[in-house]
Amino acid sequence: MPRLARATVARWGTAGARPLLCLRSRIWLGGMVVALAIFGCNSAQPSLPVSPATPSTGPQASVTGKDVAPPASQTGGFDGAAAYDFTAKLVAFGPRPPGSAAIQKAQDYIRSELQGFGCMIDEDGFKAQTPIGTLPMKNIVAKIPGTGQGIILLLTHYDTKRLDNFVGAEDGGSSTGLMLEMARLLCSGPKRANAVWIAFLDGEETQATLEWSDTDSVYGSRELAARLAVSGDLKRIRAVLLADMIGQKDLHILRESGSTKWLTDLVWRTAARLGYSNIFLAGESNVTDDHGPFIHRGVPAIDIIDLADYTNLGYWHTTEDTLDKISPRSLAIVGHVILETVNELQQR
Ligand SMILES: [Zn+2]
Repeated sequence: MPRLARATVARWGTAGARPLLCLRSRIWLGGMVVALAIFGCNSAQPSLPVSPATPSTGPQASVTGKDVAPPASQTGGFDGAAAYDFTAKLVAFGPRPPGSAAIQKAQDYIRSELQGFGCMIDEDGFKAQTPIGTLPMKNIVAKIPGTGQGIILLLTHYDTKRLDNFVGAEDGGSSTGLMLEMARLLCSGPKRANAVWIAFLDGEETQATLEWSDTDSVYGSRELAARLAVSGDLKRIRAVLLADMIGQKDLHILRESGSTKWLTDLVWRTAARLGYSNIFLAGESNVTDDHGPFIHRGVPAIDIIDLADYTNLGYWHTTEDTLDKISPRSLAIVGHVILETVNELQQR
């Protein structure tokens, strides 16, 4: 049965143990309500420790025709082909659920790329209490200093759903590839008014079952929001931009109704100005995701996501979520929009 995703939850404290449910989403298209019931996703029973990953990127991916990224000069310097390459490297580590050997390799990879870009890095290793036990998790934050006090926070999750042979090319991979390219661009750029922090989050996915729950999900985001509240940095955040599932072919992004309206308007205005109104559509969806803990704490936040298309195609949370579904051009377009939105925010 379709159910609206809850925008807020009872507790967004530090990661704690509790139960869950698949992403629920309701899509409004042209005044028509298309309800998506995203339940009944088949699940392999999770077990710990995670067996060694068997890297499998799925069918041989090749990029041709309309999926080729435009030259970076046409997308504000953001290189969609590079973002795709970062995504491919992450996918090649195989399934990357929290606490696995493969996610450690992904963490080492993200860290070494960020170091190579000259980013300042802040790592937070923490223990998450989950329904399947205590799991080590790690948030990795690239910090680009600003001249003033404000912070623009970009988010992605890099963990993958705890499913056999699930490599998460789109769900966890693509947005992380995009944010690595964003870090490459911004860490070497000039200082601007606001700092830009790019957080690579662990533990977005539920650990115990496929069913999403407020207490068995978004561990890394809850941890980050809680830490920033304690440090006082939360008050400095002007906007949070979360990217999730934005690299698929035939991308169509709907406004996420739980996101902050002025920020959504800004992103959609920016996309329209850049000529991407065929990707950033006027319809609306409601998705529970890593932006939730920030919304709950009163921080302006947006989730930029295309969950509906991927679900309708039968790829979401299945072994079909492989690299051949990813388009460098989609990465380039979303990267361009996020980059230009950050520029707009810098001028406010
Ligand atoms: Zn997922």
